[in-house]
Amino acid sequence: MIVHYYCRHCTADIGTIDSSSLTEEQLGIQTLSENEKQEMVSYGANGDIRIQTICENCQEALEENPDLHQYDYLIH
Ligand SMILES: [Zn+2]
Repeated sequence: MIVHYYCRHCTADIGTIDSSSLTEEQLGIQTLSENEKQEMVSYGANGDIRIQTICENCQEALEENPDLHQYDYLIH
């Protein structure tokens, strides 16, 4: 099972891990609420997992411009 992490804001590919030895608990998926899971986690047809997160660049940008958070909220 391959897990792809990508940025939800700029869609940058953050990283890919082969999680064949990991469980969803270890990936932190279990700590997400159902809503967060639906929003952040998707499963590919081949069993891959795609997790939306945020990259360092966007994290910094959001910290410098908190208004962007509102914008992000609005477009959802
Ligand atoms: Zn980003």
